[in-house]
Amino acid sequence: MEYVSPEGLRLDGRRPMEMRQIRAEIGAVSRADGSAIFEMGNTKVVAAVYGPREVNNLSICISALSDMIAVQNRSQQMSDQALVVYFAGYLIAVSLSICFSSSLQIRCEYSMANFSTGDRKRKPKGDRRSTEISMVIRQTMEACIMTHLMPRSQIDIYVQVLQADGGTRSACINAATLALSDAGIPMCDLVTSCSAGYLNSTPLLDLNYVEDSAGGPDVTVGILPKLDKVTLLQMDSKLPIDIVENVMQLATEGCKAVANYIREILLENTKQLEYRRGLMN
Ligand code: UDP
Repeated sequence: MEYVSPEGLRLDGRRPMEMRQIRAEIGAVSRADGSAIFEMGNTKVVAAVYGPREVNNLSICISALSDMIAVQNRSQQMSDQALVVYFAGYLIAVSLSICFSSSLQIRCEYSMANFSTGDRKRKPKGDRRSTEISMVIRQTMEACIMTHLMPRSQIDIYVQVLQADGGTRSACINAATLALSDAGIPMCDLVTSCSAGYLNSTPLLDLNYVEDSAGGPDVTVGILPKLDKVTLLQMDSKLPIDIVENVMQLATEGCKAVANYIREILLENTKQLEYRRGLMN
């Protein structure tokens, strides 16, 4: 299939190095400590941040125990051996949590709303893909949060895909950055993310679902723009070594464009807050 026309246009009319339109809104969930909506074209996600809140060893044990009970409820379909491995994993996790409970714990949950995709998603919550993306987002956000300033505490980051059209993990990272900023969580930089791929011998920025599902290589990058560091690099499929740098560079440019936009949104939000404060005084 032709993903780039002879005129150099993609199926949705974009140029190869053109990103989809991005839009963000801070404070979408009133009960959260920080929240944001982030859109990249037709992909739309919401992030809500709770915390930091104080935790102690007991609460860690209780949350691990409730997780174990949840697993046990699901375990009817599991073999005995799988169950033993699962419980052993939990016991190790609890022991580690207790050992390291003096540091900040960041929890992240990625999910897709049932109505977020064309074919209604019927997979149960917590499928393998969601678990992997939750972990990837958590690790990416950990790179920018100044964890040493909040010992013995926990931050919960919930990201949900409202509308999926490719690049949901990038959109979730961008939304989480805004939500963390909104919650006033100290961060050393803004972490931003974007993907790029390679189809019809052309590097393409910010793949949509049709391009993503073409089966070509797809690279997702996360960066700390001011510190000039890469915090996330994931690749689907194979990519010739001489092309990797080009595609990665393209995704990095996308991340920088997102960072500029996020800075504008944060600045605008701060101005509005100050204006409202001025009206109240
Ligand atoms: N997708 C879907 N149903 C699913 C999972 C994914 O329709 O259960 C679509 C969705 O549009 C998503 C795209 O497939 O954005 C690519 O998914 P991938 O796993 O590559 O992650 P993403 O690109 O969203 O970070």
